[in-house]
Amino acid sequence: MTTASVNERIQLIVTGKSSESTCSPSLAKGPWEFDGGPTAYGPGASSEDVIPTGSPRQGALPDSYKNASDEELHDRIRKAKETLGSKVVILGHFYQRDEIVQHADYLGDSFQLANAAKAHPEAEAIVFCGVHFMAETADILSAPNQSVILPNLAAGCSMADMADIDSVTQCWEELTELYGSEPDAQGRAPIIPVTYMNSSAALKAFCGEHGGIVCTSSNAAVVLKWAFERGQRVLFFPDQHLGRNTAKAMGVTLEQMPLWHGRKQMGSNTSEALQDAKVILWNGFCSVHKRFNVGQIEKARVDFPGVRVIVHPECPMEVVDAADENGSTDYIRKAVEGATEPTTFAIGTEVNMVQRLAAQHPEHNIFCLDPVVCPCSTMYRIHPGYLAWVLENLVEGKVVNQISVDAAVATNAKIALERMLAAKPL
Ligand code: SF4
Repeated sequence: MTTASVNERIQLIVTGKSSESTCSPSLAKGPWEFDGGPTAYGPGASSEDVIPTGSPRQGALPDSYKNASDEELHDRIRKAKETLGSKVVILGHFYQRDEIVQHADYLGDSFQLANAAKAHPEAEAIVFCGVHFMAETADILSAPNQSVILPNLAAGCSMADMADIDSVTQCWEELTELYGSEPDAQGRAPIIPVTYMNSSAALKAFCGEHGGIVCTSSNAAVVLKWAFERGQRVLFFPDQHLGRNTAKAMGVTLEQMPLWHGRKQMGSNTSEALQDAKVILWNGFCSVHKRFNVGQIEKARVDFPGVRVIVHPECPMEVVDAADENGSTDYIRKAVEGATEPTTFAIGTEVNMVQRLAAQHPEHNIFCLDPVVCPCSTMYRIHPGYLAWVLENLVEGKVVNQISVDAAVATNAKIALERMLAAKPL
């Protein structure tokens, strides 16, 4: 059983002290070496995805942070946090590296963390160690006097970036032309937009404005049910896999779920195929969860008879079908915590979370289905150097890297988030 963090494992691989493999030796470098890169998200699972033009970029990090040792950075973070006291809350996503999580006041998924921030009205600053859309959601849900800070602006999310407001608006106009805008005899709208939490604030606002709703990976089935009570069909973005896996489990056939390719006329579909659609799936995906495959599950079953295979619903359909269970990060965490007998778990989600579960539960044998150490490229951008930088700036009274959602966008996005809460409180 290894107790090394993911980053320590990567350093061991790169220095030849471990026989494991990583998807990119560049992961051993400081993320500031990639922040200005023009076309890619940097090393890690989404390195092949293309960053949309206009995505936020991180400016240069001062040398005193880049050149500091790990010990010095941790010391500076602790001191700044102590000085700031209750004025700051640090949030860490489950997929964040351990070197960041050790400083977090809360660990959770994006929605749990946004709500954790709400529980601290006394905090003037919320430092969100996650990715851009998460910081936006925290800004929407937090009080107006609170500043939400993303330590590295280059921490986007390649899946969220696969659907933008212009291409979704174009899709909506084409679908409205096809289906019309009048409700049917049961009063159901022709189409209801549903966006996954992993999307920009602009897309959440689009849903708020057009009778739609937000979902998380924990409540996607409840939200789809809500949408089908109000609409004849659903436009689901940006993650095709969460949409397909959830709707399929509810009895929607694959033929009723055409894939929509953004910026292509009719999303590259015929109007006949769209007429029978129940769920129109946006062609987005998570590059972390796309790495999992059925062969890995088969191997786990041969190597560990009786293994319990749990994957995230952002995995492709055939992987979800081959697993024993699928569920959100919180589902996976609870499944491990709730196992009363020593169990072997093969888990299909981001490696930092799996590694942490393995370290926290030595009574179980827990491993990531993907044998290659390949973290989320953008979560990886949050390095202790950036955390120290934003905190020390706060100590000096300066807010850097603030994420502010436009007031009109925030109002409509909140409507879609509130519909989700009313559909089923989390
Ligand atoms: S794991 Fe996937 S969905 Fe989550 S932040 Fe990374 S790229 Fe985005």
